[in-house]
Amino acid sequence: MTPNLDPAHLADAVAKLQFRTQAFIDGAFVPAASGRTFPTENPANGQTLAHIAAGDAEDIDRAVQAARRAFQDGRWARLRPAERKQILLRFADRVEAHAGELALLDTLEAGKPITDCATLDLPDTVACLRFHAEAIDKLYDQVAPTGPEHFAWIVREPLGVVGAVIPWNFPIQMAAWKIGPALAAGNSVILKPAEQTSLSALRLAELAAEAGLPAGVFNVVPGFGETAGQALGRHPDVDLVAFTGSTEVGRLFLRYAAESNLKRITLECGGKSPQIVLADAADLDTVAQHAVAAAFWNMGENCSCGSRLLVAEPLREPLLDKIATLARTWTVGDPMDPATRVGALIEAAHLRKVLGYIDAGRREGARLVFGGNQTRQESGGHFVELTLFDQVHNRMRIAREEIFGPVLSVLSVADETEAVALANDTPYGLAASVHTRDVNAAHRLARALRAGTVSINCFSEGDITTPFGGFKQSGFVGRDKSLRAHEQYTELKTIWLQLT
Ligand code: NAD
Repeated sequence: MTPNLDPAHLADAVAKLQFRTQAFIDGAFVPAASGRTFPTENPANGQTLAHIAAGDAEDIDRAVQAARRAFQDGRWARLRPAERKQILLRFADRVEAHAGELALLDTLEAGKPITDCATLDLPDTVACLRFHAEAIDKLYDQVAPTGPEHFAWIVREPLGVVGAVIPWNFPIQMAAWKIGPALAAGNSVILKPAEQTSLSALRLAELAAEAGLPAGVFNVVPGFGETAGQALGRHPDVDLVAFTGSTEVGRLFLRYAAESNLKRITLECGGKSPQIVLADAADLDTVAQHAVAAAFWNMGENCSCGSRLLVAEPLREPLLDKIATLARTWTVGDPMDPATRVGALIEAAHLRKVLGYIDAGRREGARLVFGGNQTRQESGGHFVELTLFDQVHNRMRIAREEIFGPVLSVLSVADETEAVALANDTPYGLAASVHTRDVNAAHRLARALRAGTVSINCFSEGDITTPFGGFKQSGFVGRDKSLRAHEQYTELKTIWLQLT
């Protein structure tokens, strides 16, 4: 059911919102042990929305202890799979019933367009929770082909206490990608949302409790990375941290694990994804639509953002004309306006970072085709124009580093070989897309590109049935989404029986 996007209804719904601002530990909302709070801001106008409990090491420890107790006594892990499934399905139903409210929370805190939150993020969140819930009583263990004097079986068991540390760009969806499979596998979870976006995660914990998830099984501790995030990464009684965020912070989690208890770490990190347009690409209007969506959707604050366009030289000018025309229809505006395609960047520091990259592009000699400026300053929010640079060289910073803003770099290529070489010439490997009419070239490139997801003649991350994750410095072990996600939240055990 799509939430009501009528502006009058939205204004009324915002006025009635009640924010959950305390940590959710052991089945109850509690203040931070230190009593400290931090402000959370609306990026569209710079105003403070609420003050959130500033969780730190002490709160993380309380949450880990509650999660461990819940895991040890089996109140969740040892329920019959069908019972866990029913509770998680009820949880998904409650999220769906409150989708309008949750979409508003993400729009208010993340500056994302309400239409995207309501029609993409929330339906995907519900689908994700349902998918993993449905899988619980359909996953079988294995019997090994041993000789007649032995019987051996291979089972998957929940890991125990799982920490999830997530970014702000898809707040509720990233939470669901982690907690869906982690809870389905029978673990207890401590979720640490990004400090910019705590509200939907806290509401999610309440909805899970209402659906019947036992106390201690799903805890949410808001707070900063250096305090709450690090405490989770270094805690000696956490079995795994599933992290989504920047490659830089992902690296820290490997260090935390190495310096503490060798907890498992899964990393879903950044990207610098190429979009390749070969000379025989079909209809350029369609290519332009995908190119614009890949580069500018979610303000470019998207890990799989197609931020490098590698285009066959003969198509470069006509394609850039079409992209420029289309980009003008992607209005930058108030995220709460249902007509807005491009909302606000997450915070002032991030706006400065994106503008810094635009400056670097100019200084390094790329040709600015459109955009390049901050906009809507009168709103008090953090908005930037959609920006396109042509004549980019793959050595320039705008071609190498993840900008995480609406900045598209265009590089022209002579042929397929050069396109593949440039596409792979990056430390990242999250996603790639290829536009061609030649089915053989499509297959060749799909295999040659070093990326976790390759889209042919489109820009897509797949859906909940397909694994999502990266090659190289975009990821480390495991995948989100699909049945593959269950594997990373379980430990493999062999049971060997001597028959007499
Ligand atoms: P970030 O790495 O700054 O923060 C992510 C999380 O880590 C937050 O919860 C933060 O509080 C925490 N954190 C920050 N510093 C920490 C520290 N020193 N110790 C422990 N925890 C710490 O990332 P971000 O700015 O929130 O998100 C943007 C990044 O996320 C981009 O690089 C983007 O590509 C990536 N991302 C990846 C995927 C994917 O699936 N691969 C999806 C979405 C976003």
